[in-house]
Amino acid sequence: MSQPSIAIIGAGLAGLACARHLARAGLAFRIFEAGDAVGGRVRSDRVEGFTLDRGFQVLLTAYPEAKQVLDFEGLNLRPLYRGADVFFQGTRHRLADPFHHPIDALKSLPDGLIPWMDKWRTLVLRKETSGIREVARRLPEMETEDYLKDFGFSDEAIDRFFRPFFGGVFLEKDLRTSARMFLFLYSMFQKGGASIPAHGIQAIPEQLAIALPPDSLRLNCPVAAIEPGRVSLESGEIVEASHIILAVSEEAAFHLLPDSVGEKPKPPRSTTCLYFTTSDPLPGRSILSLDGENRGPVNNACVLTHAAPERAPQGQHLISTSIIGAPSSAELEEVVREQMARWFGPVARRWRHLRTYQIRHAQPEGRQLRPGDEPQPAVIAPGLFRCGDYVEDVSINGALMSGRRAADAVIGSLA
Ligand SMILES: Cc1cc2nc3c(=O)[nH]c(=O)nc-3n(C[C@H](O)[C@H](O)[C@H](O)COP(=O)(O)OP(=O)(O)OC[C@H]3O[C@@H](n4cnc5c(N)ncnc54)[C@H](O)[C@@H]3O)c2cc1C
Repeated sequence: MSQPSIAIIGAGLAGLACARHLARAGLAFRIFEAGDAVGGRVRSDRVEGFTLDRGFQVLLTAYPEAKQVLDFEGLNLRPLYRGADVFFQGTRHRLADPFHHPIDALKSLPDGLIPWMDKWRTLVLRKETSGIREVARRLPEMETEDYLKDFGFSDEAIDRFFRPFFGGVFLEKDLRTSARMFLFLYSMFQKGGASIPAHGIQAIPEQLAIALPPDSLRLNCPVAAIEPGRVSLESGEIVEASHIILAVSEEAAFHLLPDSVGEKPKPPRSTTCLYFTTSDPLPGRSILSLDGENRGPVNNACVLTHAAPERAPQGQHLISTSIIGAPSSAELEEVVREQMARWFGPVARRWRHLRTYQIRHAQPEGRQLRPGDEPQPAVIAPGLFRCGDYVEDVSINGALMSGRRAADAVIGSLA
């Protein structure tokens, strides 16, 4: 049999995972990537010796697909504290995972931020989600907030913890995202916790790209159009391909194949991330700080150098602050600094602003995972396949998994 000619469009996590599986099956392919590096939404920049991720991103080490595909040791992962500091009415309240920080959890028991019974309920929820796939399959489709209310959580627990914590994960604070997605992520946080690669989140796609066969990747190579058997590059070059795999975002897929991909995507979820630095001492741990009042603009912040000192020149701290949405205001930096002064003390007024990232397309709105449900089909038409977080679920894990499924579909079609 002659070798098929396989073209992958996009070198985000989904495209790279697809390539990895094809390579393991002994198949040759070419990847066409519009950007100047691999990673798609998982990118980092080096700025004045700091490593800045394009938006606050963490890897949950319990992600089942990530565990199989990635070499965690090679990523030099640094765990974040299992819990959060919630800022509410001028006071910091620590919520600690009792299984990992029992003393902190005991100390915070009398803290009145959320009722005692809610702390108990989080443990019940932990037990419920241990067989997550089965739980999710049984669960009728509902929004996260409704699920939490039905579970018995009080308004205080929802508003002061779940809304800022999972609002920051979903990039929406109404908690309208599928409860199945919530349960999946809740169990991932319980089973493994969150971590960041010491040298930036882009270490993840770079690790996948190292294994690519030589000359299989073309960067700065946007695809203008595709049709069965042909890929047209923006440069005017035409590439013949018997198998084409669209590994782009939902919006880009719709742009390239409006008739095949489905409905016009809803506007995506956005986020804004402002980085600051200081050489002033910043006591504390590598813990997520949350806006328990939901007043914003910052929803969550983290001193990244507490987890990964490599992210900044020696003696300097790197602080990431995240806003849900993409507000445009000339005063944003000052307003954020003021809020951080309430959280970290007046020294925050002296923090130096490094860079602001506004990420309009951070997550697709349409499909927010249903673990236990079937993913969208990888085959769009004969010879035409797709993968990406919008096909599976919106996470690093979902993107990797969808890449594998697309590769399996290609391999299946050849058999
Ligand atoms: C700020 C932010 C924070 C996040 N936080 C987390 C987190 O903490 N944990 C988690 O699990 N997930 C997180 N996610 C989600 C996760 O990063 C994504 O779900 C995942 O990276 C999507 O990968 P993908 O390969 O499907 O898509 P993409 O990363 O969008 O990759 C698509 C690729 O296709 C390329 N492309 C597009 N059009 C063309 C074209 N015409 N020609 C050639 N190439 C093209 C793009 O340049 C891109 O490289 C976050 C996302 C963002 C943005």
